[in-house]
Amino acid sequence: MGNLNKINWKKYAKDRRTIVEIAKELHCNERTIKRYFKKEGLKKLQGSRSEISKRKQSKANIEEKNPAWKGNKAKYQAIHAWVRRYKPKVHLCESCGKKKILDATNISGEYKRDINDYKWLCRKCHIQFDNPKKGQTTLGAF
Ligand SMILES: [Zn+2]
Repeated sequence: MGNLNKINWKKYAKDRRTIVEIAKELHCNERTIKRYFKKEGLKKLQGSRSEISKRKQSKANIEEKNPAWKGNKAKYQAIHAWVRRYKPKVHLCESCGKKKILDATNISGEYKRDINDYKWLCRKCHIQFDNPKKGQTTLGAF
C-alpha cells in the first residue's frame, strides 16, 4: 500500500469511481478509502459500479423480455382484431370445406396487414397448416 496521503482523491471522486473500485485499485480496504473521502470532504459512491450496472442490467433484462413478449402478444391480438374486422367472414373451412369454428390463418408466416395473407381454416386445418408436427397455432378462433 503506497502513501494514501498522496492520492488525488478528488480525481477519484470526480471520475465517479466507487469505493469498492478504488479499494481494489489501491489494494486497501473500503473503510480506509471512506475515511479519506470523508477527510477530503468528498462524496462517495456506494457499491461497485459493476454491481450497480449489473443491477440495472438485470432490471433492463426483465423489462426487455416482457415488452418483447407483450409486444408479440399485442401484435397478434392487434392482427387478430384487424383480420376479424376486414376479412370477410366465411362459414366453411377454406381447406376441408367443413362447417366449423374458423381460425384466421396466416399464410406467409409474416403476419402482414394484408387480408390476402390470411385464410379461414378450421382449428384442425389451421394446426396442420401452421405446424404439422408440433401442432402449434398463433392466431386463435374468430
Ligand atoms: Zn378444415
